[in-house]
Amino acid sequence: MRYSLTEEEIDYYLTLLNEELTTYDCGTLCKNDKGVPLCCIVDEAVPLLYKTELSCLMKKGDLWFAFKPKTKEDRELIKTADSDQVFAECKGVSHCVRTQRSLCCRTFPLEPYLDKRNIFAGLTFLEEFMKVDKKNNLPKCPMTLRPQDIRQEFVDAHFTFWEKLMFRRPEEFATYKDTSKKARAKIKRTGVKIPVLLPSHHKNRKDILDNLF
Ligand code: SF4
Ligand code: SF4
Repeated sequence: MRYSLTEEEIDYYLTLLNEELTTYDCGTLCKNDKGVPLCCIVDEAVPLLYKTELSCLMKKGDLWFAFKPKTKEDRELIKTADSDQVFAECKGVSHCVRTQRSLCCRTFPLEPYLDKRNIFAGLTFLEEFMKVDKKNNLPKCPMTLRPQDIRQEFVDAHFTFWEKLMFRRPEEFATYKDTSKKARAKIKRTGVKIPVLLPSHHKNRKDILDNLF
């Protein structure tokens, strides 16, 4: 059974995600020649929202609308959304309103990492954005090379958000259990560890550190 989120819950979750990722504008590291940061380019990442999240955001303003597929790939993509989710698009960075950003705008580029015991240990980068671009030999999101620049307040607040969300939606827990397991399998194959950003209360926990990978 799926536990769909209500608009009230979405509003509450948005209040947990107001911390800045860094003390500087990381968009300056990845902006294209039109001044658009990579994670705000819809071709790079089509935002996936809960249906109630889209309706909640549409009541706050006119920044968001449902994604309109243009290509065969787009049509395939929209089939991957769960029944209570919808791909969406914003009007663009020049219209961005901070208080109207979606959950995925606010959490990007991090997601939960569960340790070998399936305990929620910390946050790691979305795999897709750690991948090295063959054109310039750099990862898509430059922050993946600068985990030390991510504010601890951001990690702590986002850990709280994800903990609540995974408790509320077991499907999310299952998703990140799976992505974390795959990440460990890749580490085993390549020998390259991934950054895991720990919340303050996990930093001195030996059991967390001993079971990360
Ligand atoms: S999170 Fe990454 S991709 Fe997004 S603006 Fe910052 S550096 Fe660019
Ligand atoms: S709402 Fe703002 S942060 Fe989110 S994708 Fe659009 S421009 Fe980027």
